[in-house]
Amino acid sequence: MDIQRIGVVGAGQMGAGIAQVAAVAGLDVVVTDVSQASLDKGEAGVAKSLGRLVKKEKITQEDADAAAARIKWTQDLQSHSDRQLVVEAVTENEELKAKIFRELDGLMPAGAILASNTSSISITRLAAATQRPEHFIGMHFMNPVPIMKLVEVIRGIATSDETFAQVKALAEKMGKITTMSRDYPGFLANRILMPMINEAFYTLMEGVGSAEDIDTTMKLGANHPMGPLTLADFIGLDTCLYIMEVLHDGLGDGKYRPCPLLRQHVDAGWLGRKTGRGVFNYND
Ligand code: NAD
Repeated sequence: MDIQRIGVVGAGQMGAGIAQVAAVAGLDVVVTDVSQASLDKGEAGVAKSLGRLVKKEKITQEDADAAAARIKWTQDLQSHSDRQLVVEAVTENEELKAKIFRELDGLMPAGAILASNTSSISITRLAAATQRPEHFIGMHFMNPVPIMKLVEVIRGIATSDETFAQVKALAEKMGKITTMSRDYPGFLANRILMPMINEAFYTLMEGVGSAEDIDTTMKLGANHPMGPLTLADFIGLDTCLYIMEVLHDGLGDGKYRPCPLLRQHVDAGWLGRKTGRGVFNYND
């Protein structure tokens, strides 16, 4: 199956980005969301992002216009009924995602592929909510989608070789490089990244070093583009804590215990850049 028609459920940060890279790659895209405000914001965001690509001479104005015209934005989930693949990118809530997948399963053709952009929920469990677990897969894009090259492709226990090959080829058509991860908590990226961020909080809590020195050490010592605490503030400390809890619960190993100082920041509402304060203060 040569995939030409895709759907995206969720027009937020990730969904809009996925729609954009798919449309630039020449695919026909339908984006649905329950919120008209999200659809409007997503559409405006894509227009702005395409405009930036034109300014940087990465694409022509003609290509940008054609890409924007290939995306349809609607509240009607039924619009996915002729799609060959749908990527779900709604709020990280398992019940909500399972409900959407049950509905998509009922309205999409047999053989069409269902993919989730979840950062932390089991692909195998989401697939079990449908009648097509062999055509179910994880497609984990990174934020911001138009800039970040990686897509982690996650195989649930029942995902077929054919589904995997088609999704890998699709991601490559969208200009991405893929890695394959089995379906274990955190997959590859977050399984490795989040314990590092958590450890940075432990070193801060124990007074081993200052926040600035922890970040500078990893920037200059490990050649990371930003320090782990700055990165945590970008991601959102609530998201970091949630993923550590998924690793701790799912793998049952004490080494994934969320740092109490990370939890305390979240309890205080210091969630990072989005609230103006995380480890660092962004209000000044
Ligand atoms: P977001 O809050 O920006 O967008 C979520 C969207 O889902 C909103 O527009 C909301 O209106 C919509 N939505 C809620 N309920 C819905 C429903 N019933 N039907 C249709 N749409 C509905 O969130 P996001 O950052 O784009 O994250 C989306 C997914 O991507 C999550 O699973 C998240 O874990 C994953 N993810 C996020 C990042 C990141 O850095 N933000 C990175 C990788 C993966």
